[in-house]
Amino acid sequence: MDPFRNLPVRVFDRDADITGVEAAIAELEKNAGREYPLVIGGQSYTNDRKLNTTNPANPDELLATFQKATQAQADEAIQLANRTFESWKHTAARDRANILLRAAEILRQRRDAAIAVMILEVGKNWIEADADLAEAVDFLEFYAREALRYAEHQPIVPLEGEEPELFYIPLGTGAVIPPWNFPLAILTGMTSAAIATGNTVVLKPASDTPLTGQLLADTMVEAGLPPGVLTYLPGSGSEIGDFIVEHPRIRFISFTGSMEVGLGINERAAKVAPGQIWIKRVVAEMGGKDAIIVDSDADLDAAAEGSVASAFGFQGQKCSACSRLIVHEAVYDSLIEKVVAGTEALTVGPPKDRHNFMGPVINQAAMDKTLSYIDIGHQEGRLLIGGNRIADTGYFLEPTIFTDIHPESRLGQEEIFGPVLAVMKAKDFDEALDIANSTIFGLTGAVYSHNPDHLNKARDAFHVGNLYFNRKCTGALVGVHPFGGFNMSGTDSKAGGNDYLGLFLQAKSVSRKT
Ligand code: NAP
Ligand code: MG
Repeated sequence: MDPFRNLPVRVFDRDADITGVEAAIAELEKNAGREYPLVIGGQSYTNDRKLNTTNPANPDELLATFQKATQAQADEAIQLANRTFESWKHTAARDRANILLRAAEILRQRRDAAIAVMILEVGKNWIEADADLAEAVDFLEFYAREALRYAEHQPIVPLEGEEPELFYIPLGTGAVIPPWNFPLAILTGMTSAAIATGNTVVLKPASDTPLTGQLLADTMVEAGLPPGVLTYLPGSGSEIGDFIVEHPRIRFISFTGSMEVGLGINERAAKVAPGQIWIKRVVAEMGGKDAIIVDSDADLDAAAEGSVASAFGFQGQKCSACSRLIVHEAVYDSLIEKVVAGTEALTVGPPKDRHNFMGPVINQAAMDKTLSYIDIGHQEGRLLIGGNRIADTGYFLEPTIFTDIHPESRLGQEEIFGPVLAVMKAKDFDEALDIANSTIFGLTGAVYSHNPDHLNKARDAFHVGNLYFNRKCTGALVGVHPFGGFNMSGTDSKAGGNDYLGLFLQAKSVSRKT
């Protein structure tokens, strides 16, 4: 197999790329409103309770209808996954890896159709949607190779008179619970890692993005994944989420989402249900309050550009988004001027139009939550730019910046998950680092500085899972920047890294007397 390489993201400067996506969007709009049955082990169900997925740029536009799975159906899916595990766990790693590689090829071929779904279902701009697709492909390619590596002979200390060995075996049936914000990439990464290592999966997608998730479910079937290894189970987190997490036959939970939900899952998973014979393993990747530090000797143009991209890319709805900009007082005024100018230049509107940089936020609740933080921002600081809803259709918000924010204030501490940036002043680099480390989170961060001592200090003391120097704090690449955070940002699983598949495996030691 060739060594892993990241799939390059397109920037849509070629006519062929542009017309391909335009055609895919038109096709999707033509077929809008399709209803998908719930499929468990070859059996199709139509339920009374539906899950409608709509376009956040135009909430009246129904994209597709899904069935809301019931607890009884979740139970059925888990039992099926348990039974299928008995055969899937014996499948050769090579065969499992080949399914992932075929799935990657199918997604590459279906690239335009997949990104059209994300443009309409979550409001990603074209480049962000293409990056999401590319990351999904990267996860499949990377984990296929990793599954083979974990299946290789493992080094062990020899002993006279014995033949010891160690090998990895899968855990069992896992619940995979991804967020909506990387609706293809994260869902694909979490699911494929568990499957590649020989586990079976019940996948409950986020309620806002069942259509994007369906792409992976279909792709896996076409790639030859045997029935029952993966059951795609749309449904409400609050209705079936707890049930799945508490189920005695669930062996592990792989979650990515908010801190509140992640902590609840961690707590419920710790309680042993009647009939349960293991301690559930929980992998939980959660929120962030990510900061960029700008030092007195920084390249201010680069810092401003990186800050604007990190704060407002995908409307600030990335766990890695910059929501705090911590600036050395010597360059505070000049930097802010550049950041405001960069923000003024951003275009906001329906992402169907590829010239719009920012689309809508995901739903009404996200818009309301962001607007309530904007109210708080007016009390806690000074509005520099933005602060309003745009248009009355679609969940469009202006990119918003508050300055004079105190590090301990709510805008300085709480994850908003929308296009709101809080700017703070530091008297020197040490104070900037202290401010950066002053939240309960620890996901991503960036430092713009030319001072090697300061960069070394940040390398040691800036307590985040993903730290970047002189570049933006979003845009981690599979294999290059293994991803996961510290403290309340999660269990630091480092998705897209060499340790990740180990989270879905257990090691067995066998020794024979000679
Ligand atoms: P969320 O509200 O926590 O939801 C995440 C998933 O959990 C969804 O599938 C949701 O289903 C499900 N869920 C909700 N309640 C549940 C329960 N009681 N039991 C089991 N599952 C339940 O998060 P989100 O709004 O989708 O995503 C945004 C958050 O994810 C942000 O905080 C962001 O920082 C974080 N995030 C972190 C990373 C990372 O790598 N650290 C990456 C991306 C996003 P429903 O949709 O049906 O409610
Ligand atoms: Mg939607």
